[in-house]
Amino acid sequence: MHLKKLEMHGFKSFADKTEIEFKDGITGIVGPNGSGKSNIADAVRWVLGEQSVKNLRGNKMEDVIFSGTEKRRAVGYAEVTIVFDNKDLKIPIEYSEVAVTRRMFRSGESEYYINKNSCRLKDIRELFMDTGVGKEGYSIIGQGRVDEILSTKPEDRRNIFEEASGIVKFKMRKEESEKK
Ligand code: ATP
Ligand code: MG
Repeated sequence: MHLKKLEMHGFKSFADKTEIEFKDGITGIVGPNGSGKSNIADAVRWVLGEQSVKNLRGNKMEDVIFSGTEKRRAVGYAEVTIVFDNKDLKIPIEYSEVAVTRRMFRSGESEYYINKNSCRLKDIRELFMDTGVGKEGYSIIGQGRVDEILSTKPEDRRNIFEEASGIVKFKMRKEESEKK
């Protein structure tokens, strides 16, 4: 499984539809201060269901929608699509390519899609659970996160190892069955 493409439209500073393709190997994103590098990482978090405004470096969720500049009017919605190659079926779904889309209007409602089929955020969470990609996965290491991992409480650190070893799914199912 690997990240193939990221498409942003109306997300933060990306007013126009912007596509970034990731080839095999390592991709670096460079640019001057304020040019939108971190916004790209925010787009990845957001499309995978990030609900914390703070983690998206904003004050309110609406801040992810392009808010206009002197020369350009604000837009009405933000949309991000992330595409994974899934030939190895690491994402447990029978598609060789998996595209996840999130769209949000100024009213605050978010819509989610897996390969263009409307779905719930819960479906996306479950799909990526234990793949290492999800919102709580270790695929995005933000600034300061390395120190946090080292200094964190043992039980929090354990969660990271549990996600990496692929047992979160079973733990969640156990918790759910105990609730019933
Ligand atoms: P640095 O090198 O300083 O870390 P960066 O390349 O990571 O910079 P970002 O933080 O990704 O930069 O981008 C910040 C820019 O995005 C700012 O110019 C900010 O005005 C713009 N921006 C953020 N949210 C929006 C929005 N909703 N609408 C329009 N522009 C936005
Ligand atoms: Mg930055």
